[in-house]
Amino acid sequence: MTAQLSNAYVARMQREFPSFSIRKKTDSAAQKAIGAFLACLTGGRMRTYVSGYHTVMFGTLWVAETWDAMGDLDRYVLLRHERVHLAQARRWGVVPMGMAYLLWPLPLGLAYARARIEWEAYEETLRALVEVYGLAAARSQKAWLRARFVGADYGWMWPFPQSIDRWFDDAIARLEGDVAQGRLVTEEVLAAHRAEALRAG
Ligand SMILES: [Zn+2]
Repeated sequence: MTAQLSNAYVARMQREFPSFSIRKKTDSAAQKAIGAFLACLTGGRMRTYVSGYHTVMFGTLWVAETWDAMGDLDRYVLLRHERVHLAQARRWGVVPMGMAYLLWPLPLGLAYARARIEWEAYEETLRALVEVYGLAAARSQKAWLRARFVGADYGWMWPFPQSIDRWFDDAIARLEGDVAQGRLVTEEVLAAHRAEALRAG
């Protein structure tokens, strides 16, 4: 697989966050234990921590089993999201951010800090999606994203679908403005598209 865009972005993240590394959850007993704990905590509703979720923790990106099969562009979109979490940890401190993420005001069912932390990162996901795949791809994430916030994946962190939809619509409106002003498509992304197209023949 050519991974020029995502590899270049990893290198950029390592310059910005020198201890940044990518490791597989399946190689870590601790990550597997966290997965088992979350499955237990959510009554079996969240079972994909190791198999399907990528997680930044203490400067390391722990990737799920799905990482190996991801294409260059999808990895890039994911990395853009995770970079926001690294920047947040630098801004607020790893421990205060972790405490807020896990506990404020509740660990499950009403986790406003977690919802705001994730929203900032998902807004970057949408921005990257627009850059890589266009506005329609970002718009199509509405129901999927709402489900992330109101469902078990993140412990029912913000079970208010209308407020998620409002955040989403505002974010899309901002991105539409950026697209209208030609601010989003970059040379690196176009080059990676060409490389993927060549590879696909
Ligand atoms: Zn996140």
